[in-house]
Amino acid sequence: MKRITHWINGEPRIGVGDRHAEVYNPAIGEATGRVDFATAEEVDQAVAAAAGAFTSWRTTSLTKRTRTVFAFRNLVEKHRGELARLISEEHGKVVADADAALGRGLDVVDFACGIPHLLKGEFSENSSSGIDSYSIRQPVGVVAGVTPFNFPAMVPMCLFPVAIACGNTFVLKPSEKDPSASVRLAELWAEAGLPDGVFNVVQGDKAAVDCLLEHADVQAVSFVGSSPVARHIYETATHNGKRVQALGSAKNHMVVLPDANVDRAADAAIGAAYGSAGERCMSISVVVAVGSAADPFVEQVIKRAAELRVGPGDDPLSEMGPLITGQHRDRVARYLDAGVEAGATLALDGRNHQIFGAEGGFWLGPSLFDHVSADMSIYTDEIFGPVLSVVRADTLDSALELVNASPYGNGASIFTGDGAAARRFQSEVQVGMVGINVPIPVPVAYYSFGGWKDSLFGDTHMYGPEGVHFYTRGKVVTSRWAGMEAQGRSLGFPAHT
Ligand code: NAD
Repeated sequence: MKRITHWINGEPRIGVGDRHAEVYNPAIGEATGRVDFATAEEVDQAVAAAAGAFTSWRTTSLTKRTRTVFAFRNLVEKHRGELARLISEEHGKVVADADAALGRGLDVVDFACGIPHLLKGEFSENSSSGIDSYSIRQPVGVVAGVTPFNFPAMVPMCLFPVAIACGNTFVLKPSEKDPSASVRLAELWAEAGLPDGVFNVVQGDKAAVDCLLEHADVQAVSFVGSSPVARHIYETATHNGKRVQALGSAKNHMVVLPDANVDRAADAAIGAAYGSAGERCMSISVVVAVGSAADPFVEQVIKRAAELRVGPGDDPLSEMGPLITGQHRDRVARYLDAGVEAGATLALDGRNHQIFGAEGGFWLGPSLFDHVSADMSIYTDEIFGPVLSVVRADTLDSALELVNASPYGNGASIFTGDGAAARRFQSEVQVGMVGINVPIPVPVAYYSFGGWKDSLFGDTHMYGPEGVHFYTRGKVVTSRWAGMEAQGRSLGFPAHT
């Protein structure tokens, strides 16, 4: 069985503690590896390596930092196929989907290659007589990243390229469910010439995370995962004086108006609801079908979803893979029971869907509930599986009211042919990422990614300009190199002359 280790100070480190977890191939339902869980001492060693490397990395020239990030970018591109297969083996998603997500991660690395431009400060000559004022942004120090299972490479790649390009050093604590990609990325960083200690990986669970949250030498924490954990991370790390961005759960709505192109909306919903078996924070899990849009939309989605080919991620014919664990598959199946009990119409039952895979895999086909109401658990809870709920609404007003009543505010989209309705939706909807005739509105890398309400604790979104801001501190210099002769003592507040 493969052993998945930490990566500390530029080399793999076999764990010394007793705690570990099994890592599964979800398509066959069998453990294929074991991942070591870091002890407090091992977390301490990773932070010490990062702290030790910070002094020289922060003063490494922008040119050298950029070239290292660029070399890493090329290595990820070169090994993209291998990485996609590695992700598929431990996560279950189809290889093409893993590859596409790696592409989005690479977009962030591309963005980070522009760091010399992004870190340029402002300069004001003669802000006062003989005085110049200018601003500098400096790295914060050791940064920790704690990431979820659903994007084992892309989510870390939304964080560390920007942090490292800004001159910080990084300790990643990836998900214990699919940890191999993180170690492979560490190897590629080393091959790219990143100095030892700048990028470290500690494997583990809550125990390792809590060590990072309490560690005096960790300056900032980026978290991506579920909302209860995001809240815990935000409260604990801010209590310990760190800056924190903690991205949480989602329940993303897609509003379909009667003037939308039904085929286009149905195709979009299928991809957004069932891609990656619904295990995406930007999945669409609720469609609010307005007025006469509902019947034709539901009919078209059922037709398409029933045809989906569910099978192993490494089969090029598969469109949707298994769920991450047997426990999670059972949890999603219980929601199907709960939805039926609550009176929703189970128009497509994933438990009966044909599966083209090994019997022991963590399988569930796509499911569709119609006539869902806002009090049902299938509506209120993030299911994180291939389950789409359709709520019927009479007007755009009632659809907006429903979307805005959700405690989550990650993404939302509208499908319509009416520009005025779309413009109103964009203005009034309370989420961080809006799609107009686009189902999964993940911002491009030169904007920033993040939600509102319980989908984000903290005020800074990840990557893009807000990522640069999060991973740097501002400094303003007021400088005199003219009129240096003595001018006599004054206790007055410095006035502009
Ligand atoms: P999770 O919250 O269970 O775990 C995320 C990370 O936190 C993992 O590394 C895990 O080991 C660690 N962790 C788990 N419990 C912890 C605890 N009590 N204390 C400290 N650390 C803990 O999330 P998951 O199941 O891996 O991922 C799915 C969730 O992530 C979904 O809720 C999904 O919406 C969310 N997600 C959000 C975004 C976003 O951008 N908002 C992106 C991807 C995933």
